[in-house]
Amino acid sequence: KRMEDELTQLNRRLTQLAATHGLTGLTNRRTFDGFLLRQFESCDEISVLLLDIDSFKGYNDTYGHQAGDRCLQAVAKVIGDATADTSGLSARYGGEEFAVVLPDTGEGDALKVAESIRLAVRALGLANPISSRGYITVSAGVAARTDAMCDDSALVGHADSALYEAKRLGRNRSVVSSSLNLQYVASESI
Ligand code: GH3
Ligand code: MG
Ligand code: MG
Repeated sequence: KRMEDELTQLNRRLTQLAATHGLTGLTNRRTFDGFLLRQFESCDEISVLLLDIDSFKGYNDTYGHQAGDRCLQAVAKVIGDATADTSGLSARYGGEEFAVVLPDTGEGDALKVAESIRLAVRALGLANPISSRGYITVSAGVAARTDAMCDDSALVGHADSALYEAKRLGRNRSVVSSSLNLQYVASESI
């Protein structure tokens, strides 16, 4: 009986390890993808945030990878806290990129979450001399599902385009994907 309990516990721990990223404790990409797919199919409204640390390569180059890892952990904590005790999910998407699923959330509220994360990261006050801001900041791309998006990867794609635009406009900002579409329509109709 005791052996069974231990095996059950070990199993649970292994399942958890396989689903999370060691350094940050956040959900990994694979778990994120599965969660997003299920929510995409069952929610009327759904939004995705993609966030990327600004000028992080310079931070690593200046302070070393161990300091970089600690910075990554601090940023991950902020992003994890944003969905703690909600139906949402925060994940580590890539190296220094994070993704957040916000079920039952439209674009306006998703932008508010993105901005609160952005401000909380800046408020960590982690110096980054390489960044024009002088501190560690993040850029965010925000996308809410529209009828034009046929699947969950289209939603992530829109968030990614918005993130790219946030970087292009100078970083440390959130951009909503619908603002890009409007620009696109406007430039086509000239
Ligand atoms: P940008 O503002 O355009 O995002 O610039 P950037 O320097 O952040 O972008 P880039 O993609 O060039 O650099 C990302 C860096 O993130 C490179 C890599 O060394 C670092 N990185 C990725 N994963 C980890 C990690 O797990 N630990 C540490 N310390 N660094 C990481
Ligand atoms: Mg970056
Ligand atoms: Mg990156």
